[in-house]
Amino acid sequence: MNGVLDQKIVKYFIDTCHQSWLKGWNERNGGNMSYRMKPEEAEAVKPFLSEDGVWRPITLTLPNLSNEYFIVTGSGKYYKNVLREPENNICIIRVDEKGENYKIVWGLAEGGVPTSELPTHLLNHSIKKEKTDGAYRVIMHAHPANTVALTFLLSLDDKTFTKAIWEMITECPIVFPAGIGVVPWMVCGSADIAVATGEKIKKYDAVVWSHHGIFCCGPDFDTAFGLMDTIEKAAEILIKVMSCGGKRQSISKEQILALSEPYHVDIDAAMFDD
Ligand SMILES: [Zn+2]
Repeated sequence: MNGVLDQKIVKYFIDTCHQSWLKGWNERNGGNMSYRMKPEEAEAVKPFLSEDGVWRPITLTLPNLSNEYFIVTGSGKYYKNVLREPENNICIIRVDEKGENYKIVWGLAEGGVPTSELPTHLLNHSIKKEKTDGAYRVIMHAHPANTVALTFLLSLDDKTFTKAIWEMITECPIVFPAGIGVVPWMVCGSADIAVATGEKIKKYDAVVWSHHGIFCCGPDFDTAFGLMDTIEKAAEILIKVMSCGGKRQSISKEQILALSEPYHVDIDAAMFDD
Protein backbone atom coordinates (compact mmCIF):
# COMPACT_ATOMS: atom_id res chain seq x y z
CA MET A 1 0.00 0.00 0.00
CA ASN A 2 1.24 3.45 -0.84
CA GLY A 3 0.29 5.87 1.90
CA VAL A 4 0.13 8.93 -0.32
CA LEU A 5 -2.15 7.33 -2.88
CA ASP A 6 -4.55 6.23 -0.14
CA GLN A 7 -5.33 9.82 0.81
CA LYS A 8 -8.76 11.05 -0.23
CA ILE A 9 -7.43 14.39 -1.49
CA VAL A 10 -4.79 12.70 -3.67
CA LYS A 11 -7.47 10.40 -5.11
CA TYR A 12 -9.58 13.47 -5.86
CA PHE A 13 -6.65 15.14 -7.64
CA ILE A 14 -6.06 12.02 -9.76
CA ASP A 15 -9.75 11.69 -10.57
CA THR A 16 -10.00 15.34 -11.59
CA CYS A 17 -7.07 14.88 -13.99
CA HIS A 18 -8.87 11.88 -15.46
CA GLN A 19 -12.19 13.70 -15.78
CA SER A 20 -10.38 16.54 -17.57
CA TRP A 21 -8.78 14.00 -19.93
CA LEU A 22 -12.21 12.45 -20.63
CA LYS A 23 -13.55 15.91 -21.49
CA GLY A 24 -10.91 16.15 -24.23
CA TRP A 25 -9.25 19.18 -22.67
CA ASN A 26 -5.78 17.64 -22.34
CA GLU A 27 -4.37 16.33 -25.59
CA ARG A 28 -0.84 14.89 -25.37
CA ASN A 29 0.87 16.60 -22.39
CA GLY A 30 -1.47 19.60 -22.50
CA GLY A 31 -2.73 21.17 -19.29
CA ASN A 32 -1.58 21.27 -15.69
CA MET A 33 -3.11 21.40 -12.24
CA SER A 34 -2.08 22.23 -8.70
CA TYR A 35 -3.68 21.93 -5.28
CA ARG A 36 -2.55 23.71 -2.09
CA MET A 37 -2.91 21.09 0.62
CA LYS A 38 -4.68 21.79 3.90
CA PRO A 39 -2.42 21.50 6.97
CA GLU A 40 -4.13 18.30 8.11
CA GLU A 41 -3.76 16.80 4.61
CA ALA A 42 -0.05 17.62 4.56
CA GLU A 43 0.35 16.11 8.06
CA ALA A 44 -1.34 12.89 6.92
CA VAL A 45 1.16 12.34 4.07
CA LYS A 46 4.34 13.49 5.87
CA PRO A 47 5.32 9.96 7.01
CA PHE A 48 5.51 8.96 3.33
CA LEU A 49 7.48 11.95 2.01
CA SER A 50 11.20 12.21 1.29
CA GLU A 51 13.30 15.28 2.03
CA ASP A 52 16.18 13.94 -0.12
CA GLY A 53 15.27 16.04 -3.18
CA VAL A 54 17.08 19.17 -4.27
CA TRP A 55 15.75 22.70 -3.79
CA ARG A 56 14.88 24.42 -7.05
CA PRO A 57 14.11 28.14 -7.52
CA ILE A 58 10.48 29.16 -8.07
CA THR A 59 11.94 32.30 -9.78
CA LEU A 60 9.53 34.40 -7.72
CA THR A 61 9.40 35.27 -4.02
CA LEU A 62 6.05 34.27 -2.52
CA PRO A 63 6.30 34.61 1.28
CA ASN A 64 2.68 33.68 1.96
CA LEU A 65 3.32 30.22 0.45
CA SER A 66 6.14 29.52 2.91
CA ASN A 67 6.20 25.82 3.95
CA GLU A 68 3.05 25.04 1.94
CA TYR A 69 2.62 21.63 0.29
CA PHE A 70 1.15 21.33 -3.23
CA ILE A 71 0.04 18.41 -5.35
CA VAL A 72 1.13 19.22 -8.93
CA THR A 73 1.08 17.55 -12.35
CA GLY A 74 4.46 16.79 -13.93
CA SER A 75 6.05 18.65 -16.83
CA GLY A 76 5.65 16.77 -20.10
CA LYS A 77 3.39 14.18 -18.44
CA TYR A 78 0.13 13.09 -20.05
CA TYR A 79 -3.21 13.45 -18.20
CA LYS A 80 -4.17 10.23 -19.99
CA ASN A 81 -1.69 8.34 -17.79
CA VAL A 82 -2.34 9.93 -14.39
CA LEU A 83 -5.03 7.46 -13.30
CA ARG A 84 -2.97 4.41 -14.31
CA GLU A 85 0.39 5.59 -12.97
CA PRO A 86 -0.15 8.51 -10.61
CA GLU A 87 3.25 8.14 -8.89
CA ASN A 88 5.02 8.73 -12.25
CA ASN A 89 2.90 11.63 -13.47
CA ILE A 90 2.16 13.84 -10.47
CA CYS A 91 4.14 14.96 -7.45
CA ILE A 92 3.94 16.69 -4.10
CA ILE A 93 6.21 19.68 -3.61
CA ARG A 94 7.10 21.69 -0.52
CA VAL A 95 7.91 25.40 -0.61
CA ASP A 96 10.78 26.62 1.58
CA GLU A 97 10.69 29.09 4.50
CA LYS A 98 11.15 32.15 2.29
CA GLY A 99 8.75 31.17 -0.48
CA GLU A 100 11.62 31.21 -3.00
CA ASN A 101 12.41 27.53 -3.67
CA TYR A 102 10.57 24.24 -3.86
CA LYS A 103 11.49 20.60 -3.46
CA ILE A 104 9.79 17.45 -4.77
CA VAL A 105 8.93 15.34 -1.69
CA TRP A 106 6.87 12.61 -3.39
CA GLY A 107 6.04 11.34 -6.87
CA LEU A 108 7.56 11.60 -10.37
CA ALA A 109 9.16 8.31 -9.38
CA GLU A 110 10.68 7.78 -12.82
CA GLY A 111 12.06 11.32 -12.89
CA GLY A 112 10.82 14.69 -13.98
CA VAL A 113 9.91 18.09 -12.65
CA PRO A 114 6.60 19.84 -11.91
CA THR A 115 4.70 21.56 -14.73
CA SER A 116 6.55 24.26 -16.65
CA GLU A 117 3.70 26.57 -15.60
CA LEU A 118 4.68 26.20 -11.92
CA PRO A 119 5.60 29.91 -11.52
CA THR A 120 2.16 30.88 -12.89
CA HIS A 121 0.42 28.41 -10.59
CA LEU A 122 2.32 29.46 -7.48
CA LEU A 123 2.03 33.21 -8.14
CA ASN A 124 -1.71 32.82 -8.64
CA HIS A 125 -2.07 30.60 -5.57
CA SER A 126 -0.30 33.34 -3.62
CA ILE A 127 -2.69 36.01 -4.93
CA LYS A 128 -5.85 33.94 -4.43
CA LYS A 129 -4.77 32.78 -0.95
CA GLU A 130 -4.51 36.40 0.10
CA LYS A 131 -7.68 37.54 -1.69
CA THR A 132 -9.86 34.73 -0.35
CA ASP A 133 -8.41 34.49 3.14
CA GLY A 134 -6.98 31.07 2.35
CA ALA A 135 -10.16 29.57 0.89
CA TYR A 136 -8.92 28.98 -2.68
CA ARG A 137 -6.76 25.89 -3.18
CA VAL A 138 -7.12 24.65 -6.78
CA ILE A 139 -5.71 26.00 -10.02
CA MET A 140 -6.18 24.18 -13.32
CA HIS A 141 -5.14 24.97 -16.85
CA ALA A 142 -6.37 23.11 -19.94
CA HIS A 143 -7.15 23.50 -23.66
CA PRO A 144 -10.94 23.22 -24.09
CA ALA A 145 -11.49 23.50 -27.84
CA ASN A 146 -14.52 25.79 -28.06
CA THR A 147 -13.10 28.30 -25.60
CA VAL A 148 -9.88 28.43 -27.60
CA ALA A 149 -11.84 28.71 -30.86
CA LEU A 150 -13.59 31.84 -29.57
CA THR A 151 -10.22 33.57 -29.18
CA PHE A 152 -10.04 33.56 -32.99
CA LEU A 153 -13.52 35.06 -33.32
CA LEU A 154 -14.19 37.51 -30.47
CA SER A 155 -12.34 40.69 -29.54
CA LEU A 156 -9.72 39.78 -26.97
CA ASP A 157 -11.01 41.85 -24.07
CA ASP A 158 -12.69 40.93 -20.79
CA LYS A 159 -16.04 42.62 -21.47
CA THR A 160 -16.57 41.14 -24.93
CA PHE A 161 -15.74 37.63 -23.77
CA THR A 162 -17.72 37.85 -20.55
CA LYS A 163 -20.90 39.15 -22.16
CA ALA A 164 -20.74 36.67 -25.04
CA ILE A 165 -20.32 33.72 -22.65
CA TRP A 166 -22.81 34.95 -20.04
CA GLU A 167 -25.51 35.16 -22.73
CA MET A 168 -25.22 31.52 -23.76
CA ILE A 169 -26.48 29.85 -20.56
CA THR A 170 -28.64 31.63 -17.99
CA GLU A 171 -26.61 30.12 -15.15
CA CYS A 172 -23.28 31.51 -16.43
CA PRO A 173 -23.59 34.93 -14.75
CA ILE A 174 -24.58 33.16 -11.53
CA VAL A 175 -21.59 30.78 -11.69
CA PHE A 176 -19.05 33.51 -12.52
CA PRO A 177 -20.65 36.87 -11.63
CA ALA A 178 -17.31 38.71 -11.84
CA GLY A 179 -16.85 37.58 -15.44
CA ILE A 180 -13.85 36.22 -17.35
CA GLY A 181 -10.43 37.77 -17.93
CA VAL A 182 -8.57 37.53 -21.22
CA VAL A 183 -4.83 37.79 -21.74
CA PRO A 184 -3.32 38.25 -25.22
CA TRP A 185 -1.13 35.58 -26.80
CA MET A 186 2.05 35.20 -24.76
CA VAL A 187 4.88 32.69 -24.46
CA CYS A 188 3.56 29.95 -22.15
CA GLY A 189 5.64 29.01 -19.11
CA SER A 190 7.09 32.53 -18.99
CA ALA A 191 7.20 34.98 -16.10
CA ASP A 192 5.25 37.42 -18.30
CA ILE A 193 2.21 35.15 -18.63
CA ALA A 194 2.38 34.43 -14.89
CA VAL A 195 2.23 38.13 -14.08
CA ALA A 196 -0.43 38.93 -16.72
CA THR A 197 -2.62 36.07 -15.44
CA GLY A 198 -1.98 37.19 -11.87
CA GLU A 199 -3.29 40.68 -12.65
CA LYS A 200 -6.53 39.20 -14.02
CA ILE A 201 -6.92 36.57 -11.30
CA LYS A 202 -7.16 39.33 -8.70
CA LYS A 203 -10.63 40.01 -10.14
CA TYR A 204 -11.66 36.82 -11.92
CA ASP A 205 -11.70 33.07 -11.22
CA ALA A 206 -11.21 32.27 -14.92
CA VAL A 207 -8.67 33.71 -17.34
CA VAL A 208 -8.61 32.83 -21.03
CA TRP A 209 -5.17 32.55 -22.64
CA SER A 210 -5.67 33.67 -26.24
CA HIS A 211 -5.10 30.96 -28.86
CA HIS A 212 -4.04 28.59 -26.09
CA GLY A 213 -6.48 27.66 -23.31
CA ILE A 214 -7.99 28.67 -20.01
CA PHE A 215 -6.88 28.99 -16.42
CA CYS A 216 -9.50 28.41 -13.67
CA CYS A 217 -9.31 28.44 -9.89
CA GLY A 218 -11.52 27.77 -6.90
CA PRO A 219 -11.71 26.55 -3.33
CA ASP A 220 -12.00 22.88 -4.36
CA PHE A 221 -11.76 20.59 -7.40
CA ASP A 222 -15.51 20.54 -8.10
CA THR A 223 -15.78 24.32 -8.18
CA ALA A 224 -12.72 24.90 -10.38
CA PHE A 225 -13.56 22.01 -12.72
CA GLY A 226 -17.23 23.08 -12.78
CA LEU A 227 -16.21 26.59 -13.76
CA MET A 228 -14.10 25.36 -16.69
CA ASP A 229 -16.88 22.96 -17.71
CA THR A 230 -19.53 25.72 -17.62
CA ILE A 231 -17.42 28.16 -19.66
CA GLU A 232 -16.55 25.50 -22.22
CA LYS A 233 -20.22 24.42 -22.53
CA ALA A 234 -21.28 28.04 -23.10
CA ALA A 235 -18.45 28.46 -25.62
CA GLU A 236 -19.65 25.35 -27.46
CA ILE A 237 -23.17 26.77 -27.64
CA LEU A 238 -21.82 30.06 -28.97
CA ILE A 239 -19.81 28.27 -31.65
CA LYS A 240 -22.96 26.35 -32.68
CA VAL A 241 -24.99 29.57 -32.78
CA MET A 242 -22.32 31.31 -34.88
CA SER A 243 -22.12 28.28 -37.16
CA CYS A 244 -25.89 28.45 -37.73
CA GLY A 245 -25.82 32.04 -38.89
CA GLY A 246 -25.65 33.91 -35.58
CA LYS A 247 -28.08 35.00 -32.87
CA ARG A 248 -31.65 35.94 -33.77
CA GLN A 249 -32.61 36.65 -30.16
CA SER A 250 -30.87 36.54 -26.82
CA ILE A 251 -30.95 37.35 -23.10
CA SER A 252 -30.87 41.09 -22.44
CA LYS A 253 -28.58 43.03 -20.12
CA GLU A 254 -31.55 43.68 -17.82
CA GLN A 255 -32.43 39.99 -17.71
CA ILE A 256 -28.83 39.02 -16.86
CA LEU A 257 -28.60 41.60 -14.08
CA ALA A 258 -32.00 40.49 -12.71
CA LEU A 259 -30.34 37.21 -11.67
CA SER A 260 -28.22 38.90 -8.99
CA GLU A 261 -30.87 39.36 -6.34
CA PRO A 262 -32.64 35.97 -6.32
CA TYR A 263 -29.34 34.07 -6.53
CA HIS A 264 -27.45 36.27 -4.05
CA VAL A 265 -24.58 37.05 -6.42
CA ASP A 266 -23.09 40.35 -7.51
CA ILE A 267 -23.15 40.24 -11.31
CA ASP A 268 -20.78 42.95 -12.53
CA ALA A 269 -22.97 45.50 -14.32
CA ALA A 270 -19.82 47.36 -15.46
CA MET A 271 -19.35 44.61 -18.06
CA PHE A 272 -22.11 46.34 -20.04
CA ASP A 273 -20.45 49.78 -19.94
CA ASP A 274 -18.97 50.96 -23.21
ZN1 LIG B 1 -1.43 25.00 -22.09
